[in-house]
Amino acid sequence: MDNFDLAVIGFGIRGLGLITANPELRAHRVLIADAGTRLGAGAFARILSESNSHGSDFFNWVDPDGPYGPIRALAPVRELRARTDCFDLQLLARALGEAAEFVRATAPPHWSVVREAVAAVELADGGPLLRFGGGRTARARKAVLACGVRERQALAREAVLSSTLLAVPDEARAQEVFPGARRFTIVGTAHSAFSALAKLTALGVDARAVTMTGRSPVRLHYPSYDAYRSAEHPAGEAVPDPVRDVCPRTGQVFRYHGLRNRSRALFGEVARGRLPVRLVIDRGGRVTRREADAADVVIQATGYVSDLPGIVRAGEPVATRPVALCDSDGVLLDADGLRVPGIHLMGCDPYPYKSRFTDPTVQYADRGAAVLAALEAGRHANL
Ligand SMILES: Cc1cc2nc3c(=O)[nH]c(=O)nc-3n(C[C@H](O)[C@H](O)[C@H](O)COP(=O)(O)OP(=O)(O)OC[C@H]3O[C@@H](n4cnc5c(N)ncnc54)[C@H](O)[C@@H]3O)c2cc1C
Repeated sequence: MDNFDLAVIGFGIRGLGLITANPELRAHRVLIADAGTRLGAGAFARILSESNSHGSDFFNWVDPDGPYGPIRALAPVRELRARTDCFDLQLLARALGEAAEFVRATAPPHWSVVREAVAAVELADGGPLLRFGGGRTARARKAVLACGVRERQALAREAVLSSTLLAVPDEARAQEVFPGARRFTIVGTAHSAFSALAKLTALGVDARAVTMTGRSPVRLHYPSYDAYRSAEHPAGEAVPDPVRDVCPRTGQVFRYHGLRNRSRALFGEVARGRLPVRLVIDRGGRVTRREADAADVVIQATGYVSDLPGIVRAGEPVATRPVALCDSDGVLLDADGLRVPGIHLMGCDPYPYKSRFTDPTVQYADRGAAVLAALEAGRHANL
């Protein structure tokens, strides 16, 4: 059985971010395991849609003078970082893929990078034991779960998940995708819901056939609270709380969740009646249920839950919250809020770190510092 100091399970943007923001990890024996075919790209490999973020938000966590500095000079990374607006998410997938390949090619000899799913993580005294799908095992002193998210199943009836719709590659296939459908309901009002709307209209669906329903008003991104105050606000737009929803560091309103770019423009067109989609804010869920029942096709874009492998302690499964939480050191918490020792989390939804306003550069470095401290503490305790 192979032994490592650290196992990073999942190598999408967050696993890659952890590794490339913390070159000190190169001194430790690291196992990177990813189940996918495109190392680094993670969920972005499948999403044929535009970003909500700006390209310049990415890869700031890589120190240009460190061992991963050359990543910033890779062609798709340069192209991405030059984008101060929205962009095709396939550009991000390419940039992440090439960055991951750089990590793999320059990995220290005491590292291992494997393309295999971890089926279960067993908690044991010597550290977590990883069981791979193929039956192989590996032990690590600590593990980081960076396995991403899957869509929350919120509806009673069968629905097309937004990510499945957004992976439809060929717009000319509308008839194959929705044969004979006349009435569409999109459940959700965040970026993936508006991306689904963009996709439906690109597939040739008449906007008058589409209803969007959401439990809360639509959050829009603003560069500052003053910008919010001086704008006009259509019905259906969320009112930000000046304390809770304004980033204390940048002053941005709804910094991460707020719609930007094309999704924001689409909401404007819907809210002002220029795109004849029916938008219903439905706190109780009654209209959503009715519309979902009446529609031929329901597109579900209601958020995400963590996609963790099974975690087992003394033969019993360890339950976690649907959106897994961690403490301020990044240690995974179980469903009762107790630490799961030896397991760190790179989270979702989107950033359950110390502050939801902290940007990725700080998050990856913070999480890495906590992991490095845990490895160091373990070494002193002779674990
Ligand atoms: C339409 C749409 C637009 C979006 N736009 C943006 C945007 O503009 N900006 C943004 O930041 N986010 C955006 N997102 C969200 C984005 O997809 C996620 O935030 C991001 O992919 C999360 O990264 P991750 O590394 O946590 O997970 P993932 O990208 O899902 O990567 C997880 C990796 O773990 C691997 N894995 C999972 N389970 C196992 C296992 N048991 N064993 C081994 N490997 C495993 C998977 O193969 C995968 O490679 C968007 C999402 C959608 C649907």
